[in-house]
Amino acid sequence: NHQVRLAARPTGTPGPEVWEHTSEPVPVPGPGRLVVRVGHISLDPAMRGWMNAGRSYVPPVEIGAVMRALGFGEVVASEHPDFAVGDTVTGIFGVQSYAESDGSGLQKVTPSADVPPERYLALLGMTGMTAYFGLFDVGALAEGETVVVSGAAGAVGSVVGQLAKIKGCRVVGIAGGPEKCAWLVDELGFDAAIDYRTEDVRKALRTAAPDGIDVYFDNVGGEILDAALTRLRRGARVVICGSISTYNATEPPPGPSNYMSLLVNRARMEGFVVFDYADRYGEAATELAGWLAQGRIRSREDVVDGTVADFPDVLLRLFRGDNTGKLVLRLTR
Ligand code: NDP
Repeated sequence: NHQVRLAARPTGTPGPEVWEHTSEPVPVPGPGRLVVRVGHISLDPAMRGWMNAGRSYVPPVEIGAVMRALGFGEVVASEHPDFAVGDTVTGIFGVQSYAESDGSGLQKVTPSADVPPERYLALLGMTGMTAYFGLFDVGALAEGETVVVSGAAGAVGSVVGQLAKIKGCRVVGIAGGPEKCAWLVDELGFDAAIDYRTEDVRKALRTAAPDGIDVYFDNVGGEILDAALTRLRRGARVVICGSISTYNATEPPPGPSNYMSLLVNRARMEGFVVFDYADRYGEAATELAGWLAQGRIRSREDVVDGTVADFPDVLLRLFRGDNTGKLVLRLTR
């Protein structure tokens, strides 16, 4: 059983020095427990936050512990009444090739010819849940509104934009690079896309959302958030989903200087954590799977084949913007 453990807390971008690679015998399940052979590991920007000490919405990964990660795998040994060998499951298995579990938080899923395993870490997993509850509950989206989403060609962002299109909204995506922007407009049906690497976002928003923004779904924070604040409409909702542009910062990021737009426009800004919606995942999964089957929404997964040892490098792709859609490491063992 190969593992990647957190060896030290990173400053800035996590380099190889923060990781330790270990190997142990494959675990044997005790009574009421099971063992999963991990097939796919989800790469999440939030992992960077889990590596930091201090209070957050989950405890930090301890030094020396296996790095926390969501994953997909197959039950290979079970002493648990609810799980049989051969069951396929998602859960928090960590960055390792085998995980032992008491079954809590595990979800049985059934991949098929139409639905590959990685989709249960994407549209049909935490990514889809985040987009769904962030946009509909926190964002309180109404039909026909104007939605702007940053990180738009990423896992969550690409789902947010498509959900808003289903609700008849005008959708503007902000993403890095011409290929990503073309994909959003040509393939996913976004009304416009802004390449933040080459365009002045504030100016481009004036053209792309001439009547202003009703919902700004923020995945990146920083200057892009600040630019979006200048274009709010009266009663706008700013959904704070994430702030990837600041996750590796070594200095505290500057505050959004345009926050008084919230006052002027009687707008609100609200953060959320998807885990708080766990008791409603079923509702969202059913609706998302329905739209997927009807061809009204697409799930794109960016699958990288490799071993557990490749995790540290693959994680950095998120911060370079190498991924389009949901980044997943598929273990070749
Ligand atoms: P993505 O698939 O969106 O991957 C990250 C993307 O962020 C990259 O592809 C890159 O795209 C973009 N990016 C990286 N660095 C920067 C930067 N400096 N400025 C602007 N964009 C940047 O990841 P996810 O969809 O998994 O996550 C998206 C966001 O949602 C994250 O902030 C994450 O923390 C948050 N999240 C929050 C949850 C919650 O419960 N609140 C749950 C899950 C995710 P590009 O090429 O366009 O730069």
